[in-house]
Amino acid sequence: MRGADLVYDTTLTLEETFKGKKEEIDLPRLVNCDTCNGSGCAPGTSVRTCSVCNGHGQTRVSRSSGFSTFVTVQPCNTCKGQGKIIERPCSKCKGAGKQKTTKKFSFEIPAGVEDGEYRIPGEGESVQDGVNGDLIVRIRVQPHDKFKRDGSDIFYDANISMIDAALGKNIMVETLEGQEKLEVESGSQPNTIVKLKGKGLPRQSGRGRGDEYVRLVINIPTKIDKQQRKLLEELKDSFNRD
Ligand SMILES: [Zn+2]
Ligand SMILES: [Zn+2]
Repeated sequence: MRGADLVYDTTLTLEETFKGKKEEIDLPRLVNCDTCNGSGCAPGTSVRTCSVCNGHGQTRVSRSSGFSTFVTVQPCNTCKGQGKIIERPCSKCKGAGKQKTTKKFSFEIPAGVEDGEYRIPGEGESVQDGVNGDLIVRIRVQPHDKFKRDGSDIFYDANISMIDAALGKNIMVETLEGQEKLEVESGSQPNTIVKLKGKGLPRQSGRGRGDEYVRLVINIPTKIDKQQRKLLEELKDSFNRD
């Protein structure tokens, strides 16, 4: 007999994934009944050995067919294979000897974890006279509003104006540890990717971190007033002179 596997669903933010997260949950457990100390007998009574199977829990049944005799071994009907009989069952556990309880179980979700199922052996449902099932932790990492993710690498879009792209500028970009200065070079082209080495998530192998890739998204004004139009026209003329 083996207990069922238990499934625990948990959702992490990307920030929690970056640091790792400790979880504490209540797990169902079977423990010895505190009224009968696990014997299953009402107080003052005891278990007696089954007289049908003499405590073996099994009976042999012989069947003859022609010259052959077949012997089959089957669980004893009188004691249900237990080899013993409870004369007066404990009223609390109805003779099972066990009672249900919960126990606190804490575990660490490692940093850099990805969506998936992780098995913790022996922490699943417990059953009478059997081994525990497993605990299956099902992890989902929430999408982030600023970062996209691929494994341990993260991706971030930095918006700059076409003027700043042409002139160059120091901008602030988001990282997992807060804002960081990034130097946009003069003449940066749309969709240029700048790599921030080691600024991604911890690798699941436990070695180092992934990278952050910053994409320069260059914004072109959607509305310009008369004055701006005049300046841009002059700018255009100056380029045409080159
Ligand atoms: Zn009991
Ligand atoms: Zn028996």
